[in-house]
Amino acid sequence: MPLPPDLWFDPTKCFINGEWVAPLGGEQLGLTDPSTGAEIGTIARGTAQDVDAAVAAADAARKGEWGRMPAFERGRILAKLGHLILTKTEELARLESTDVGKPLTQARADAVAMARYMEFYAGAADKVHGETIPYLDGYTVYTLREPHGVTGHIVPWNYPMQIIGRSVGAALTMGNTCVLKPAEEACLTALAFADLAHQAGLPAGVLNVVPGLGAEAGAALSSHKGVHHMSFTGSVATGVRIQTAAAQNVIPVTLELGGKSPQLVFDDADIDAALPFLVNGGIQNAGQTCSAASRILVQRGVYDEVLAKMAAKYGELRVGPALSDLNVGPLISARQKQIVTGFLDKGKDLERAAQAVIVDDAPEGGHYVAPTLFAGVSADHTLAQDEIFGPVQVVIPFDSEEEAVAIANGTDYGLVASVWSQNGARQMRLAKAIDTGQVFLNNYGAGGGVELPFGGVGKSGHGREKGFEALFGFSKLKTVAALHG
Ligand code: NAD
Repeated sequence: MPLPPDLWFDPTKCFINGEWVAPLGGEQLGLTDPSTGAEIGTIARGTAQDVDAAVAAADAARKGEWGRMPAFERGRILAKLGHLILTKTEELARLESTDVGKPLTQARADAVAMARYMEFYAGAADKVHGETIPYLDGYTVYTLREPHGVTGHIVPWNYPMQIIGRSVGAALTMGNTCVLKPAEEACLTALAFADLAHQAGLPAGVLNVVPGLGAEAGAALSSHKGVHHMSFTGSVATGVRIQTAAAQNVIPVTLELGGKSPQLVFDDADIDAALPFLVNGGIQNAGQTCSAASRILVQRGVYDEVLAKMAAKYGELRVGPALSDLNVGPLISARQKQIVTGFLDKGKDLERAAQAVIVDDAPEGGHYVAPTLFAGVSADHTLAQDEIFGPVQVVIPFDSEEEAVAIANGTDYGLVASVWSQNGARQMRLAKAIDTGQVFLNNYGAGGGVELPFGGVGKSGHGREKGFEALFGFSKLKTVAALHG
């Protein structure tokens, strides 16, 4: 689909200091529609010079009106921004569908979630504060929660609106000023968000957006000496680079990286209740989700039943263009399709339990991959260990609870897990035994609520975003001790 002619922002520019400015290097990058493979426009190729300008604007803004603004007034701006996002839900969803390739219904949910982040953080802005600490006689001791200063945000292409909402939203709430580097594959809604924030009354320079390549704009931002905190969501390899760069400036980093998340189905589970979560958890956003349920661990007593029911569900899935709003859209890029088909080749020796259908009229050039379910997979197979980031799930049988925990914990990652069982004691045991940032009991994802802290352990990253926890991460604590005799 071509871009709508009446966009309310300029996709070819950077947004710096409250203005749309051409990238200083004068170059553009192609913008591709994953559903057709066609180039539908261009975006700014921001470079280190643009990042310098954006960081300078953010630094000036934190020392100006924004730095003195009471927390409740920051909250009011965020509330207005949330409202503006809701009035633009349909336009934002269509932009995201076109840019990312996700079915319209999923893109709509992302737009609403971005608004929800603003609403949640708007209400929280004046409710996060320090505390007084009882100490020696003659002292009064208290803590202050202060913004870090300029925060850098590097986000991926899979959930731009959700990730911008949770990280930029929380950073603004605590009074930081932000420089956002969206992914080169999908930056339209980041630019749209910046414009809406400006309309909502965010002072110039408080939020700046520099589109561009990771190795150029991204590397410049993560190593910039004027940045006081980095928030990154994306691959492990890039996360390591960002943490290494941030270490040179000794600044804190939040990393939200990948996963190999398991769902554990026990003999006593309500299988029909589990079924939609087992499948959707793996194929949502064409499997390009950090918390994708890529491993389904099933106890032998219900193995055949779960496999048959999952395979039947796969048979109902339809894959096609994002704006047709079927169950599954294309992958983001030709490169991602190549990565995922490479993994499918590595599974040649495995039992293919099911494969979904790509609709006949899906455009030739679109990056479509049919969701595939592999059965009887051993826990140490490449497909059961590596993050695929595509619509591929493996079913792994197990006998005992101990074995299930060992398999669940047996990868480098630790993002999300779910347990399907009617046994309350088992639920509690496994909630402790599974080493992940989130454990869901008899559900998967809990509807993604903005209130729920989210993050990983191991190679899934560190730090927490979402909920109040994010507000602690996007602020620093100062202890004040007064001796008054
Ligand atoms: P990536 O990590 O390369 O890109 C994510 C973001 O980092 C983009 O904005 C990119 O421009 C930026 N970036 C890239 N190189 C950089 C550098 N040297 N310095 C600073 N910023 C840089 O991810 P990708 O290549 O788009 O996807 C590859 C893999 O990453 C996927 O297959 C998947 O495994 C993983 N991934 C995970 C998530 C997640 O939510 N956890 C999201 C997207 C991708």
